[in-house]
Amino acid sequence: MKDNPPMRWLSLMLLLTAVPAMGRAEAEAEPQLPEPKAQATGTRTAPNMGGDEADAENNGIAASRFMSAPPEASKPRLVLEVLLVNDPDFPEVTQQAADVILSNARFTLGDKLGFPNVDFRIKGTVTVADFIARNLPPGNECSLQFEPLRALPGSRSASQVDPALVDQFLSRWSVESLAAFFPINQRENLTSYEAIRGRLLEEFDRKLDLIASYQLGDGKSLLDPSKLSQRSYVNWICAVRNQNEADFILTNEFILYDLASEPYAHSIFAKCKVGGASLLSPERRAIHRRALIASTFSMVTDLPFFQEDGVEWLTTSERFAVIGTFIVAHEMGHAVFKIPDFYDHPPECLMTTKFETGYVSGFRELKAHPGPCPKCQPYVDAKRHVFLAQNARAAGNLDEAISNLKMAIGKTPKHVDGSYPQYLADLSVQIAEAYAAKGDVKQARRWLKSAVRVVPKHAEAAALKHTLDTQ
Ligand SMILES: [Zn+2]
Ligand SMILES: [Zn+2]
Repeated sequence: MKDNPPMRWLSLMLLLTAVPAMGRAEAEAEPQLPEPKAQATGTRTAPNMGGDEADAENNGIAASRFMSAPPEASKPRLVLEVLLVNDPDFPEVTQQAADVILSNARFTLGDKLGFPNVDFRIKGTVTVADFIARNLPPGNECSLQFEPLRALPGSRSASQVDPALVDQFLSRWSVESLAAFFPINQRENLTSYEAIRGRLLEEFDRKLDLIASYQLGDGKSLLDPSKLSQRSYVNWICAVRNQNEADFILTNEFILYDLASEPYAHSIFAKCKVGGASLLSPERRAIHRRALIASTFSMVTDLPFFQEDGVEWLTTSERFAVIGTFIVAHEMGHAVFKIPDFYDHPPECLMTTKFETGYVSGFRELKAHPGPCPKCQPYVDAKRHVFLAQNARAAGNLDEAISNLKMAIGKTPKHVDGSYPQYLADLSVQIAEAYAAKGDVKQARRWLKSAVRVVPKHAEAAALKHTLDTQ
């Protein structure tokens, strides 16, 4: 579904950019933009960076620390509106709980990614039922698009989803790395995508049956039809896509992972639920067209299956620290820095996603290994140029902004969270905007053309083109 033969590329590209965290850079999908350079190290040279650059050169850690060093870093660079969204069936996310979660997230972003400059502003509290209902009008385009991809407990099993879509999703990884998710004694016949798909979807359906068997205090199933709408990840994807209420939604909801076309092994083999996600939200601008969700459910539930190992030893405040550190900061790594999940990074890594790592053990691992992950540094380094470009543009220094954006394009690793072509198109439009502000219409049009070739309906590109055409 997301990676496609060239003939169908354009229409499918639109779908690709419309689906969260699904993009995959294909050779034919790349814009005619400067080719990214090798990304193997966290050290790099950037001209025009001033005296701090020498320190930043030494190693990835220094480069990361540098982000918090310049004077402009003392003011918040990122302001996020936060909405608390509660399901009365589970312990509420209160304002106090949210404060603990958000302050831990901020600390971790500074420690792991050198980015402490985020300001979370809590707007208020609503119920999940209201939030989902008002953002999922009947017949909305997103739901129509996703419904066939969704497992519906009681009526549509995961195994019934189009196998071609599942195989395209799985083809992002090697057969060997996918097989590694299975117990050693079950790996023998897992030598093809088809074999892995069959076993993953079988496990998916087994998990859905198991979860449906759990009852809440009122005797209703956790997947009771009356609550399924607000507990479906697919519905959350679409509600977040349609909403314009917040950049970050903190909830206590049990969110069932029901996107059967994307059987993430680490979800299927674990608890088949979503603890956090970075989702498309085109109306939101603080994180470019994205919003985050994070759930406290696994830290507060009394259903033993969902309780994280070791949670019983934690105080209430420590439980929320786990959410802020292990979930919220991680999701911001995806959304802000475009870092994908990694399976083979060192223990410092905020973006590590391993089957055997639970929330509490993952949290302890991060605390035991403070400081940034050197293998994630290329993402932080590339993004640093975007922040520098924003600062330069705000200061009216357009040449410096353009030069930093070009460096960001060159340095961004191809394997990003979400769609690499979309991200490059976004940066290209920013370059075009800076050229236009300079009065260099020829260059502005050139960069616009690159962006539109990749993302034909790019909103900002269309707006700038309109401005240039009517000047
Ligand atoms: Zn992740
Ligand atoms: Zn890493």
